[in-house]
Amino acid sequence: MKTAIATVCLSGGLDEKLLAIAAAGFKGVEIFENDLLSFNGTPKDVRHAAEDLGLTIVTFQPFRDFEGMPADKRERDFVRAERKFDLMAELGCDLLMVCSNVSPESAGGIDRAAEDFHALGERAAKRGMRVGFEALAWGRHINDYRDAWEVVRRAGHASVGLVLDSFHILSRKTDLKALTAVPRDRIFLVQLADAPVLEMDFLSWSRHFRNFPGQGDFPVLDFMIALQQTGYDGLLSLEIFNDQFRAGSARSVAIDGHRSLIWLLDQMGGSAPSLPPRALCLGTEFIEFAMDEATEPSFNALMRGLGFARSGVHKSKSVTRWSQGGINLVANTEKEGFAHSYYITHGTAVCALGLRVDDAAATLRRARGLLDQPFQQAVGPGELEIPAVRGVGGSLMYFIDPASKLARVWDIEFEPTGETAPDAGLTVVDHISQSMHYEEMLTWLLFYSSLLNLDKVPAQDVLDPGGLVKSQVVRSADGAVRIILNASQSSRTQSSRFLSEVFGSGVQHIALATDDIFATVAKLRENGVPLLRIPENYYDDLEARTGLSGDELDRLKSLDILYDRDGTSEYFQVYTHTFEDRFFFEVVQRRNYTGFGAANASIRLAAQTRLAQQID
Ligand code: MG
Ligand code: MG
Repeated sequence: MKTAIATVCLSGGLDEKLLAIAAAGFKGVEIFENDLLSFNGTPKDVRHAAEDLGLTIVTFQPFRDFEGMPADKRERDFVRAERKFDLMAELGCDLLMVCSNVSPESAGGIDRAAEDFHALGERAAKRGMRVGFEALAWGRHINDYRDAWEVVRRAGHASVGLVLDSFHILSRKTDLKALTAVPRDRIFLVQLADAPVLEMDFLSWSRHFRNFPGQGDFPVLDFMIALQQTGYDGLLSLEIFNDQFRAGSARSVAIDGHRSLIWLLDQMGGSAPSLPPRALCLGTEFIEFAMDEATEPSFNALMRGLGFARSGVHKSKSVTRWSQGGINLVANTEKEGFAHSYYITHGTAVCALGLRVDDAAATLRRARGLLDQPFQQAVGPGELEIPAVRGVGGSLMYFIDPASKLARVWDIEFEPTGETAPDAGLTVVDHISQSMHYEEMLTWLLFYSSLLNLDKVPAQDVLDPGGLVKSQVVRSADGAVRIILNASQSSRTQSSRFLSEVFGSGVQHIALATDDIFATVAKLRENGVPLLRIPENYYDDLEARTGLSGDELDRLKSLDILYDRDGTSEYFQVYTHTFEDRFFFEVVQRRNYTGFGAANASIRLAAQTRLAQQID
């Protein structure tokens, strides 16, 4: 299928939009009338700009309030349409998109509308043009694609066809069965959009909250499967009205759009060349921190306090491996290379995540196919070239797999120190939380879920003393990898302050798992690791909420452990202080619990804010 995108999806002027659309690899573009009106040039200039970029203008839209108008208005509408045809002739575009009438002056009646479309089709045909009819979800008389199809069918004109828009259909939960019976050559254009499920009027929902397939909650795949049954192999065009997209970078939004279509077609088994499947995530192999030598001693002290052993040093670089259970934390104090440049920009920070996947080379191939950004840097003799792509905030995501020699990276690149340490019972990385700009959230949601076999769970709002934080989890079905994306529109929340202090998006906290939180906390205390103090009120409330016994509550309270329960499953959490105002660790124990202690998040955020104020 041929793919296209509407200019309305992107920010900037029409010329910038066309550049971004071409750069993202699209071959088709829908021109929105407003973009043309505000363009400083003639329609012919637009045509040439598009041609120079290898873009075909697939439709001109929208043409509003046409069908079912009273006689005097009807004639004027035909004159209006002829003007659009003039304009389209200059643009080099042959399809006018007409959306269903919302005017209170319009009358209903399928036959009446069909007559209007037949007449419009006659006029279009004389000019070698076509018209497509789309049912808006809020159309006055026609708001269902089945009625729009009946109008097109009865119009009985080869130049009149149907436009299907997944938003209008899925927002109304219209049955998809009738779609399968529409002859494919009667469908002139298919517009795709996803959206979050919201309780609001269709118009506001559509104009502000649409997003790319895979970013929202709509069953876009079901829509595509119904469409596939018609045999349709024409244009698939993204038409997304979204406030964040219109505030974001046109280039990166256009790439997100193309990525979403590639992934959607991939899910239908129709992608060519075919992509390797989404990478199966087996766990977090390592987390790499960029820092300078001045910071290293306090980082080392924290590592020792948490029960990590300095298990290896890199054979040729100033990189140290700290390990405990199945966790590897890597401190990089190199004076050149990627980690160093990351440090220069962000200060002490997580510069890379290493994920264990089923097939690292295939993951990189899939990343390329999805227009992700592969990363390579010169490797020294004897070093492995670990497949990597750019992730959140310019950080890297490396891929290691058990089958290739990448599995032996620690033996190949590191010299064991032979040092051991009394561990604190930490076993694996439980989850990683990344803070980002609000506008970036959908980008990274799509990045993770298109490349990796991670699925999103419904987003949550968390109350921070500085405002609301939106929290979106992606995770593998077995919990081997869990990533939390946090963003806030308030500049006063912890996640927003992180962005300004660390100069960009990145990892803000890392949760490590234990099988016995009480033993682990005892060990951390013994090692002198300060933990976040939790106010007494929390435990009073916990008593009321959970009915834990006095002894159990006392035990939690004495160790500053947060607790959550879901049926019979249980969750325990403690937090370290924040390292140099940057990131912190969490220790968690799960007993069949799959959440993240959302009920405790606001308590934790308030306690951290209080602590930061004391320290500042
Ligand atoms: Mg539409
Ligand atoms: Mg957490």
